[in-house]
Amino acid sequence: MLLRPDSLRGGGPPVPRNELPPLRFRSSDKATRSFCPHCGTQLTFQADDYPDQVDITTCSLDRPEAVPPRDQTYTSSKVQWIELADGLPQYAQARS
Ligand SMILES: [Zn+2]
Repeated sequence: MLLRPDSLRGGGPPVPRNELPPLRFRSSDKATRSFCPHCGTQLTFQADDYPDQVDITTCSLDRPEAVPPRDQTYTSSKVQWIELADGLPQYAQARS
């Protein structure tokens, strides 16, 4: 399991692994999110339209540097003051 967000932030003791299953929350009529039952960190996002895919939040990984992004998706809904300057391919919605 990939849960150690507290240790990534540098504060508090490491979170015990696999002690409790992630909490699942139906966040809209189109998707379900899961959260760490210890600290509330979001772990996953699963859209009903893509049942064979699960998005895993970068902040929940032990070594996020091991899986750098390859592109930026859903840029049409990003916060407007964020300027994406990483040079990666951008998609207004899902990858085409
Ligand atoms: Zn946690």
